Amino acid sequence: MKNILKIILCVLVCYVTIGLGWITKDVIIHENVKDGIAVLGYHGVVSDKEKKENYASNPYFMSVSQFEKQMKYLAEDNYQCLSMKEVENYYHGKKEISKKAVCLTFDDGYKNFNTVIKPIIKKYKLQATNFVIGYKTKTNNPLYLQKEDLKNDQYVEYYSHSYNMHHIGHLPYKKKIETMKIDEIKKDFEKNKGLVSTDYFAFPYGVSCQNAQDYLKSSSVKLAFSYNQNRHMTRHDKQYLLPRYLMFSNMPFFLFKWWVE
Ligand SMILES: [Zn+2]
Repeated sequence: MKNILKIILCVLVCYVTIGLGWITKDVIIHENVKDGIAVLGYHGVVSDKEKKENYASNPYFMSVSQFEKQMKYLAEDNYQCLSMKEVENYYHGKKEISKKAVCLTFDDGYKNFNTVIKPIIKKYKLQATNFVIGYKTKTNNPLYLQKEDLKNDQYVEYYSHSYNMHHIGHLPYKKKIETMKIDEIKKDFEKNKGLVSTDYFAFPYGVSCQNAQDYLKSSSVKLAFSYNQNRHMTRHDKQYLLPRYLMFSNMPFFLFKWWVE
C-alpha cells in the first residue's frame, strides 16, 4: 500500500514539475518576443444573453461585453490597430510601427462580424479583418456572412480562410489541408475567385503543411496566418506561417493585457 502511495506521489510531482516547466517556457518566449505586432485571432461575438443561453460551452464565441472591454482598452490605451496592408508593409520593412501595435482578425465569416463586431470596431475607430470560408457565403446559412455581406470599407475587410478546407479526417485526425496535393490546394484557392480575395489567408485550424507552403510561394497570396500563443508576429517570421494569438471566451482580462502589451 505504502509503495502505491509513493508511486502516486512521484507521478504527481512529475506532472507538476513538467507543467511548471511548460508554463515557464511559454512565459520566457512571450516576454522575449514582444517586438512586432500582436495579431489577435477571434471567431464570433454574441450578446451576453446568447452567450449564456446558447454558447456557454463554446470558447470561440465571446460575449459582447467581454469583447467591448478589450476593444475599449486598445482604444483608450492608444494602441495602433493595423489593416492587412499595413501589416504587409511592416513585414517588408516599408512601415514602422509603434511599440503598441495590434491587428484584429476574425475567422470563419460569422454573420455576427457584421452585426455585433463591426459596430464596436467603428465606435472605437479600429480596423478588423474577417477570414471567410468561401463556400459558406453561398449557403444562405443565417449564421454565416453571404457574398453580398462582404463589402470592404475603412473599418473592415474580408479575406480567405480557404474555400472549403475545414475538415478533420479520421484517425490519426489529420486536418484536410495536410492530406491535399499541391494541385488540390491550388484548385481550392481558385474557387474563391469572385467570392473573396485571397490576397491574405488564414489556415483552417491554424494548420499548415509542406504542400500548402509550396503552393503559397508560387501564388499571389501576400501573407498567411497560423496560430501561436507565445508571441507577436515579427519580420523574422515565415511569410506564410505568421503567428496569431487564439482568443477565447474564458480568457481573463489580465491575459489579454499581457498578450497585447
Ligand atoms: Zn476556422
